[in-house]
Amino acid sequence: MEIESMVANSALIKAREGGGSRGRSYKWREMLRFAHISQCVDQAMSIEREYYSLCVKQPIGKKLFQLFCRSRPDLQNYISLLDALDAFEMKSDEERKDFGLSIIQRFLMSQSIQCVSVVQRHEQSCIHSLEFDPCMDVFHRCTEDLHSYLSGEPFMHYQQSMFFDRFVQWKILERLPITKQTFRQYRLLGKGGFGEVWACQVRATGMMYACKKLDKTHVKKRKGEAMALNEKQILEGLDSRFVVSLAYAYETKHALCMVLTMMSGGDLRFHIHNIGQPGLDKTRVRFYAAEVCCGLMHLHSKSIVYRDMKPENILLDDNGHIRISDLGLAVRLSEGTLVRGRVGTAGYMAPEVIGHKHYGMSVDWWGLGCLVYEMTAGKPPLRARGEHPKASEMERRIQNQQLEFGEKFGKAVKNLCSSLLNKDPKERLGCGGPGGAEVQTHRFFRKINFRMLEAGLVQPPFKPDPRLVYCSDVQDIEEFSTVKGVILGQTDSEFYSKFNTGSVPISWQNEVIETGCFKELNVFGPEGSRSSDLDW
Ligand code: ADP
Ligand code: MG
Ligand code: MG
Repeated sequence: MEIESMVANSALIKAREGGGSRGRSYKWREMLRFAHISQCVDQAMSIEREYYSLCVKQPIGKKLFQLFCRSRPDLQNYISLLDALDAFEMKSDEERKDFGLSIIQRFLMSQSIQCVSVVQRHEQSCIHSLEFDPCMDVFHRCTEDLHSYLSGEPFMHYQQSMFFDRFVQWKILERLPITKQTFRQYRLLGKGGFGEVWACQVRATGMMYACKKLDKTHVKKRKGEAMALNEKQILEGLDSRFVVSLAYAYETKHALCMVLTMMSGGDLRFHIHNIGQPGLDKTRVRFYAAEVCCGLMHLHSKSIVYRDMKPENILLDDNGHIRISDLGLAVRLSEGTLVRGRVGTAGYMAPEVIGHKHYGMSVDWWGLGCLVYEMTAGKPPLRARGEHPKASEMERRIQNQQLEFGEKFGKAVKNLCSSLLNKDPKERLGCGGPGGAEVQTHRFFRKINFRMLEAGLVQPPFKPDPRLVYCSDVQDIEEFSTVKGVILGQTDSEFYSKFNTGSVPISWQNEVIETGCFKELNVFGPEGSRSSDLDW
């Protein structure tokens, strides 16, 4: 390895280790200083007063609403019950029954001093469903009734409390303009069609991210505006642990930037082909396939077809969980419609895409079939290792040739692959009424507990080495140059301003909480005075 690469790698490894409090700028408190309360009026007006968004979905909003409830004696039990219900979701299957019963005894039974009256009537039905199957959504109705109560009078008074003022102060910080100066930049991680992906770190919080930069001249020359905006807008509407999250979208003089979840474990192509024998062991194949399946189901639940499934686009984080990335080809279907369009990567396209048919989610289940096949065989379907047939030849094979399974395929995985790689989308696994749920019940996944997997409670079978950088050496990633002779004008600026929306609220709030900044800064002065009133 060249010295340049070693230096770049060790800087990145050091930043990763120090991620969080040690990675913060020494000026971080100044960067995250609350505005004076008198400056909050305008912002407060611009906040949409919707209970679910303000008090449930937004992580900081949720915390402040809870603090408000805690400050009111009559709401203590409501909030303790909400906490208990959150904790219930983090329990393993074995613990659920006992824990669930303890919740019922404490909060639902009329003789308990902590009884919460608005949910009392669910006592019997909760006991029944807990006995029938503790892994069901036992407290679904309780949660609904709790929120419906809290969204009334308590939500109204919350908005007049100092806790809401504080929320507005956080919102002001969240909405500060984002520029190049917001981040420290580390090494180049990879290269894409329109530019480069760099490791970066937020100066104020120490959080590590990957910044995908789209070069403006390249985007313009290749008419990539719609595609870039599409990728950004789809990403900002998602919230899944199995798909990369967008944290910021901003622009510099030369580039449009999407700041994404940092995935330091490399992509699956690297793990399948560049470490030891080609292919992965069965436990890893099953685990990655199951997580990808959950990611696809999240996308499909939002009517999004992904269309670019391949090992290169599935990335590992430092714990060994995967996320689907690169949503440049994803498309949102309006209700009940299908799309047509030959997009994807040659070799991974479904027969109905190649055949110019209208299609929907079916192409992603084909893609999952290709992925499982390649992880198992150590080579993609219908291709020999190292063989690169012309696109037209690949298309002929995908439409007409039968698959072959080598001796690496056990019975279950072979059955899964041939069901997913069924050339007829109507017959394909995952494409019937239940959608992805049908894939999850395939016997290849019988050892996977999807409820726990969705909650992030399953330990990955492989953890990337924190001392390694799982990508090509910097000097081996081709330089990206700007295109000459492209002039950027007024219409371009209009498009840039649609792209340049700054922080994505849920991601930003998670960042502030995860890095410990929230805890350190969200103090209230004596007798409820806002600490920013005191000049420290
Ligand atoms: P393109 O749409 O141009 O193909 P990608 O989104 O696939 O761009 O990114 C290009 C490369 O950058 C990827 O192959 C990967 O090596 C790296 N990369 C992309 N996103 C991340 C991320 N979130 N974390 C780490 N590396 C990433
Ligand atoms: Mg890509
Ligand atoms: Mg792309």
